[in-house]
Amino acid sequence: MSEREPIIAGNWKMHKDHLEAIQLVQKLAYHLDEQDYEGQDVVVAPSFIALRSVQTLIQSDKLPMSVAAQNCHAEDDGAYTGEVSAPMLARLDVAYVICGHSERRALFAESDAVVNAKLKAVLKADMTPILCVGETLDQREAGNAVEVVVGQLRGSLDGLTDADLEGLVVAYEPVWAIGTGKTASSQDAQDMCRAVRDELAALHGDEFAEATRIQYGGSVKPGNVRELMGQPDIDGALVGGASLNAEDFALIVGHRRG
Ligand code: PEP
Repeated sequence: MSEREPIIAGNWKMHKDHLEAIQLVQKLAYHLDEQDYEGQDVVVAPSFIALRSVQTLIQSDKLPMSVAAQNCHAEDDGAYTGEVSAPMLARLDVAYVICGHSERRALFAESDAVVNAKLKAVLKADMTPILCVGETLDQREAGNAVEVVVGQLRGSLDGLTDADLEGLVVAYEPVWAIGTGKTASSQDAQDMCRAVRDELAALHGDEFAEATRIQYGGSVKPGNVRELMGQPDIDGALVGGASLNAEDFALIVGHRRG
């Protein structure tokens, strides 16, 4: 186990209205013990419309959890109908913003340049980006997985210094494992997370790379989380489907229990 503090985050995607979101956090808190939070970041990423309700609940009940947004716009304000800016999220005490999730890259045509601009906006607003990278099945089968992931990393981090990026979280999420029930083998996940760390070291030095937390995401479940979290370069999990069920997500968060 590394000295990096594990970070387990639930990405709720476009699920749960604000009332359901409150219920989910209440149930999750019921299933978690003090020790589950100790030395570990527990993060939930509701939709924009539920952020305020979830944040209020967390604050009023003093729950040791953080809130993440699933996206933001790169500009601080302006004529961008339907968009939400990083400063708006920061005002809601949002701690993390997921940037470059594969669904945003694939369905909303987010290039590395767009992800880079969003990352800069998140950092400027004093929040922490969770930068998602990952290859498609075709890219993996063609033997290009590392090249693709390293390319996404370089493009997304362009123009940022290690000081700018302090606290950065990277989520390695093979696209073929997201929402499919297929998980990368723990060795494949470890190998790619190691490749990500090596690239971070090449870009920003060993100290930065060693301090940066790298999550694995892609069909993480109560049954596979321990093996994944046992890998030396996997410091956390970004969880989609299983985070919508309080019992399952609590088991994932509670992966260190005996
Ligand atoms: C995700 O959306 O980031 C994800 C990993 O989803 P799932 O856990 O459902 O594969």
